[in-house]
Amino acid sequence: MKDFRYGGFAMSEKNNTGGEQAKALARLLAESRDTVIFTGAGISTESGLADFRSPGGIWDRFDPEDLSYPRFISSAESRHRYWKFYQQYWLEAMDVEPNRAHFAVARLEKSANLTAVVTQNIDGLHQKAGNGPEKVYELHGNMWEVRCLSCSELYPWEDILALLEEDKEVHNCERCGGLLKPTTISFGQSLPENVLREAQELCRNCDLLICIGSSLVVYPAASLPEQAKNGGAKLAILNREPTPLDRIADLVIHGEAGEIMSWAAEAVETNSF
Ligand code: NAD
Repeated sequence: MKDFRYGGFAMSEKNNTGGEQAKALARLLAESRDTVIFTGAGISTESGLADFRSPGGIWDRFDPEDLSYPRFISSAESRHRYWKFYQQYWLEAMDVEPNRAHFAVARLEKSANLTAVVTQNIDGLHQKAGNGPEKVYELHGNMWEVRCLSCSELYPWEDILALLEEDKEVHNCERCGGLLKPTTISFGQSLPENVLREAQELCRNCDLLICIGSSLVVYPAASLPEQAKNGGAKLAILNREPTPLDRIADLVIHGEAGEIMSWAAEAVETNSF
């Protein structure tokens, strides 16, 4: 057997379930004329970024209620706690690099008919791995931007982090006095309407939706796989553990995103499925 090496694995080592499942995913990709990939925090755990709901995840360390939008808006004390969370999160994430799952998704832009990457992630790692920024739809915003909630003036996140590191309070907007906040979507805050609308349209019209590393429990984002299925698309789910949508999927793979996606991308590129 040929020995194509990608991500430290040899094709000859792949006569196992994961290898066969990756090939099944590659076959779906090769047949598809319009693929959308939908990702969650699980695609970034191999990069060292914690997801929310796994043991040791973010919700084990912070109370989601405390970081909600209504509390952010209404109380200076909550804003203080929110910024302390961001100080820690920025420091954890600033040196994080894309992993082999992100790189595999980026490679599919060249080797498959990948129309879009719709992500719940705020880490910007798909763009860093090489996906065209115009192909990436960030449903929950991006942690590397801070904006005024009133006039949308942008502030460099590094300046805000520097203030927090000096134990100073984050100031209001210098232009209009509004509250500053990272452009990420908090619980209780609406998703960016145009991004959600375009993502819904892409999912309704695609012929293959691949979900990678999402528990598929946070709505409205988790309704996208259902919309794709209702629109006639095939649905593939790759996640470490079962999800509530496994029952409607055409292909379910319980495995590691990095391993399976790098194998699948390799199989597409080498027509070996
Ligand atoms: P989630 O924590 O609910 O689910 C992640 C899923 O990925 C889990 O089911 C877990 O079993 C699985 N998983 C973890 N590592 C994996 C791996 N290596 N391979 C395969 N599966 C793996 O996250 P979600 O579904 O994205 O929930 C949505 C929320 O998470 C959103 O609000 C999003 O903004 C937020 N979030 C984003 C980041 C990020 O940008 N990296 C980090 C944490 C949370």
